[in-house]
Amino acid sequence: MKLTIDGKIGQIPFYPKAKKYGTDNGWIKLASNENPYPPSPKAISAILDALFSVNRYPGGEYELKKVLGERYGLAPENVVLGDGSDELIELVLKAARSPDRDVVIVTEPCFAFYEIASKIYGYRVVKVPLEGMKVKLDSLLKATDKRTRIIFLNNPLNPTGTIFEEEEFVRFLNELPDEILVVVDEAYGEFTDSKNFPRSHRFTKDYPVVILRTFSKAYALAGLRIGYGLAEASLISYMERTQQPFSVNALAIAGALGAIEDQHHLEMVLENNRKGKAFLYNAFKEMGISYVPTEANFILFKDDNARVLTEMLYEDRVVVRWMGPYGLPEYVRVSIGKIEENQRFIEALKRRYRIL
Ligand SMILES: *Cc1c(COP(=O)(O)O)cnc(C)c1O
Repeated sequence: MKLTIDGKIGQIPFYPKAKKYGTDNGWIKLASNENPYPPSPKAISAILDALFSVNRYPGGEYELKKVLGERYGLAPENVVLGDGSDELIELVLKAARSPDRDVVIVTEPCFAFYEIASKIYGYRVVKVPLEGMKVKLDSLLKATDKRTRIIFLNNPLNPTGTIFEEEEFVRFLNELPDEILVVVDEAYGEFTDSKNFPRSHRFTKDYPVVILRTFSKAYALAGLRIGYGLAEASLISYMERTQQPFSVNALAIAGALGAIEDQHHLEMVLENNRKGKAFLYNAFKEMGISYVPTEANFILFKDDNARVLTEMLYEDRVVVRWMGPYGLPEYVRVSIGKIEENQRFIEALKRRYRIL
């Protein structure tokens, strides 16, 4: 089988809006912060190999935990695997339930699933607004009380791409009451170039912190569903007790083991992201569009007619995300794609700007 890294510009058969305009080739999907590249050939060949043993229940979980733990100087017992990091969000919520403490704090805006899942598991949700598009950990501290159980942080933050830094994080952890669990979702952590990005895994030993990472973004395995959590061993064990046996499938484990071996592929992905970011910044500046500088693989930009603009871009077969549902109706989030996809997006944007 011939494996190529640089596939065609993809089809988007599953995006409901796309149906309206057809799902032929030529659609540019920049709406879900997916990796524009297929996974590493090493991941693909590991998955192909694993296919021959799917008559058996999944194995390799311990090996993957060991490899992941080693990258962070942690033991396999400090690692939990999940059916996507979405499952890990649920495990935390299930494991931390307590009748006296039933409040979850999130930032506003943030990844929608924190609130959805929290409500499913019976929590009340308190939302703390950003300041200047950034999370202010101090404001989150002020929002805590004796009913607070979990704080969900996302760093870099979806949808702004902004980060909080290590110094602020340490201050926050030191002031936080012990009964409050902090979840730091670092789904986009690989993409940041900031030297001050928290080395958050180092705090799992002394603080009630769960770090979430995923293979869905930088490792290009979104469709396989696999993420991992890092925390102190007893916290991990509580989370796993609420988990179905074999919830992470055999192909996902194999793919993750293959993907994590391929540093070269990861570097290619990150380099493409840097170049795409520079290209888009430049184009936005040229067009007088204001945007939020990003540490992730997506950019939030402002447009007074953001919703209409998003709809119009569909007609050019470019799919981006209007941020109305995130409480930012004058913003659009665009994922950074391959060079030619970014170009197509900017061409379409320029066309629409002449019309609007
Ligand atoms: C994409 C994303 C994830 C990834 O979820 P998976 O279930 O691992 O695919 C997690 N958190 C945030 C904020 C995301 O944007």
